[in-house]
Amino acid sequence: MQVWKFGGTSVGKPERMKSIQQLVTSDDEQKIVVLSALSGTTNSLLMIGEAAKKNEDIAAEKHVNELFTHYETFVSELFTTKEGLKKGNAIIENEFNHIRSLTTIKPFTIKHDKMLVAQGELLSTQIFAAYLVEQKISSVLLPALEFMRIDADNEPILSEIEYRLKELLAFHEDKKIIVTQGFICRNPRGEVDNLKRGGSDYTASLIGAAVRAKEIQIWTDIDGMHNNDPRIVKRTFPVRELTFEEAAELAYFGAKILHPSTINPAKLRDIPVRLKNTMEPSAPGTVISKTQTSSAGIKAISAKDNVTAIYIHSTRMLNAYGFLRKVFEIFEKFKTPVDMITTSEVSVAVTIDNNENLDKISKMLGQIADLEESDQDQSIICIVGSFLADKPNIAIRVLEAMKDIPIRMISYGASEHNMSLLVDSKDKNAALEALNEGLFTFE
Ligand code: ADP
Ligand code: ASP
Ligand code: MG
Repeated sequence: MQVWKFGGTSVGKPERMKSIQQLVTSDDEQKIVVLSALSGTTNSLLMIGEAAKKNEDIAAEKHVNELFTHYETFVSELFTTKEGLKKGNAIIENEFNHIRSLTTIKPFTIKHDKMLVAQGELLSTQIFAAYLVEQKISSVLLPALEFMRIDADNEPILSEIEYRLKELLAFHEDKKIIVTQGFICRNPRGEVDNLKRGGSDYTASLIGAAVRAKEIQIWTDIDGMHNNDPRIVKRTFPVRELTFEEAAELAYFGAKILHPSTINPAKLRDIPVRLKNTMEPSAPGTVISKTQTSSAGIKAISAKDNVTAIYIHSTRMLNAYGFLRKVFEIFEKFKTPVDMITTSEVSVAVTIDNNENLDKISKMLGQIADLEESDQDQSIICIVGSFLADKPNIAIRVLEAMKDIPIRMISYGASEHNMSLLVDSKDKNAALEALNEGLFTFE
């Protein structure tokens, strides 16, 4: 069994959906196919939700109508038979009736917003499943809301996902393609919820781990993980192999190609993750696994934005123990993860990416230490690879490349495969470009 996930651009046009059908049926292996919403749909639904929240009924209706027209055209170009088209139209009529009724609920709460945003994946999967039926492919649509579960901390519950999926899959052993929704899930209150933006990657990995798949494939619009952010840096190239640790680090620190948590379930069950390009299926992509054959050295760079640096000073820290524990207990109390940390004898600097409780955290920290004003709009630049062999050189090469760009924090040595720098976000693009030129060689 394999799990293949297709992102928004991979299903965003009728001809792409047709080529996905060809891809998933190109061999006889049973597959769970996880789909995102068609590209642009999630953003549109969020916009509709915004309008509904503000009671802007006319604006909400206008956006809904525009989206409906898009789906009408999509369906008319996808299906090839009269019955198929009838089924496609029935699906979108039904879904858009539901979308319309959601947007008229007052007051329109977060709960309704989450139900609304889930419609993107519900639409794409129903349309694709109907297309597979039209093409006479042995297939079934398995609703993710019946098995994807998160806990009160919004963490997926793998054990529950596993037993629910096992029970459901037992009814469909004869089916070649099992289609399901990425992104969406239910929370402990039984409400529709989601795994946050880009969450379909995470769904695929969770399902892969749950069914102990042979491989998890993430199909997108680029040939694998590149050595740097191709949206920002001019010359990038695909990295053919990454370890779980390297890929997890890159995803967590901003490589948009993967949702930040994607690698964890796959790593837990030692299942290789392959990143593939839907537009160019024969391209090798990137394999993420436990071991690697490629040589050591710097592999890739990523950057994470919206980071805040907090500077904590304590004269009492001199020769003191227990101070760091007290500091971290405060972050724990407010369920705020710390990403980077650097220390001197009397000072600690940490970064967080969630400012929701910054005021409360600062107030409590202020009771045990002196605080300098925190810096917002910072970016963590993460340099990833296997540094063991090249250890003496890595830091020098990084700092040399960064010589014209102010660095706020440096974290190095915690593992053999990561070095992180904190820079002001306005310097991020220049830093990524400078590191690209300084650390990689190009043919
Ligand atoms: P999907 O809709 O298939 O989930 P995403 O847009 O979420 O696709 O992710 C793919 C995009 O991630 C690429 O088009 C690329 O612009 C961006 N990206 C950012 N960093 C990287 C990287 N290091 N390697 C490859 N793609 C990256
Ligand atoms: N459709 C969701 C999003 O746009 C999930 C995903 O595409 O992975 O964030
Ligand atoms: Mg994505």
